[in-house]
Amino acid sequence: MSAARPLRVGIVGGGIAGVGLALGLCRHRHLDVTLFESARAFGEIGAGVSFGPNAVRAIAGLGMGEPYADLADRTPAPWQDVWFEWRRGEDARLLGATLAPGVGQSSVHRADFLDALAARLPFGMTRFGKRAVGVEHAAGTARVRFADGSHYDGDVVIAADGIKSALRAEVLRGLAQAPAEPRFTGTCAYRGLIERNRLHRAFDARGIDPHLIDVPQMHLGLDAHILTFPVKHGRLINVVAFVSDRSDPAPQWPERQPWVREASRREMLEAYADWGAAARTLLECIDAPTHWALHDLAQLPGYADGRLALIGDAAHAMLPHQGAGAGQGLEDAWFLARLLADPALDREGIPELLRVYDRIRRPRACRVQQTSWEAGELYELRDPQAGDDDARLGRTLETRFDWIWNHDLDADVALAQRALGAAAPA
Ligand SMILES: Cc1cc2nc3c(=O)[nH]c(=O)nc-3n(C[C@H](O)[C@H](O)[C@H](O)COP(=O)(O)OP(=O)(O)OC[C@H]3O[C@@H](n4cnc5c(N)ncnc54)[C@H](O)[C@@H]3O)c2cc1C
Repeated sequence: MSAARPLRVGIVGGGIAGVGLALGLCRHRHLDVTLFESARAFGEIGAGVSFGPNAVRAIAGLGMGEPYADLADRTPAPWQDVWFEWRRGEDARLLGATLAPGVGQSSVHRADFLDALAARLPFGMTRFGKRAVGVEHAAGTARVRFADGSHYDGDVVIAADGIKSALRAEVLRGLAQAPAEPRFTGTCAYRGLIERNRLHRAFDARGIDPHLIDVPQMHLGLDAHILTFPVKHGRLINVVAFVSDRSDPAPQWPERQPWVREASRREMLEAYADWGAAARTLLECIDAPTHWALHDLAQLPGYADGRLALIGDAAHAMLPHQGAGAGQGLEDAWFLARLLADPALDREGIPELLRVYDRIRRPRACRVQQTSWEAGELYELRDPQAGDDDARLGRTLETRFDWIWNHDLDADVALAQRALGAAAPA
């Protein structure tokens, strides 16, 4: 039976996951979509974000393929299939390369990407300055309460409000589970962007191969690693330099200390004092690095309760070592967009739809979370099998991401549609 009035879909949080879902839903006439964002405007940071082939497919499925293609950088020919080359930090010797055939390294400047997506949202769909503080379930609706005293009644509410989600605790409470707070991982990252021409001059002056600029690189070392890939059509090189302290199995980040701060170049270089010329020259070219204390979430026991579900970092924030966090949020968005696209869906069917979302999406997202942590161990020479053995590292890295990239999300959607007894929408 078709709903008498459009289904009211509330999305809380206008990051990549929330905006992606809004774009995936906004063209359906049986849905009345509202996006709530706590800030006064959409905002992403000025840094790069890269997407694996699975995420690129989700982006296209959500109708964002065109703006993405306009903005995205790709590894230049003849290395177009290279995701990353792997090198040792001390002397840049090559360990191997990971190939993502047909996609290579696909990356964008975050702020440019979110701006391009937000520009495609229908006028009036987004409500800014709306900080969600709680959800109540009553009489077939989920009521979101906002800090300004207002509320919104939805037939379905999707919380895409990031790692510090206000609505995650509501889902977990509904499932009679303890709240899940972000955990400090013991890893911090220095981030920066470098003008490509400047880096070329610096590498030139020291006789360093410019190939290390144009093709995405990962430099590996004990308890630290550095990645580079181009953004803004190759004009800028995105650099993330990670440092881990593994001395404490349950590290704590001081409660009042911000997760992100400005850092000095000297402080950053001290962390890589023993590294080789390529890595150090790279870092020397970052004028104003920022320092990030990386947090993640434990694998959650559930992503949905009643008419409320979590997507993106609110559900499965992870270490960024597989470049897969935003990609998982986009997979959540695409999966939900496909199920909610069924014009025969009625309000009564929503809780079951969200249970099916949880049942199918959660195991995969949890595995990506777990393997993202394991990837950090591998890159920082702490993996129990590979250790610091060049050949083993090279072999492991060659194929370890294939299962993430080659996943068949269409098959997941078909499985969900069968479970819901729904006809596959055209
Ligand atoms: C160093 C680093 C590098 C990374 N690199 C990659 C990469 O290369 N590839 C990749 O796929 N991922 C990467 N990630 C992970 C990626 O950044 C995140 O997974 C992704 O940005 C999360 O998107 P989101 O929309 O779920 O959450 P967010 O981007 O956190 O968005 C949440 C939104 O909700 C809003 N909000 C928060 N609370 C409320 C509330 N109570 N009410 C209303 N609105 C609210 C916020 O203002 C924000 O706009 C990286 C992460 C880090 C730290």
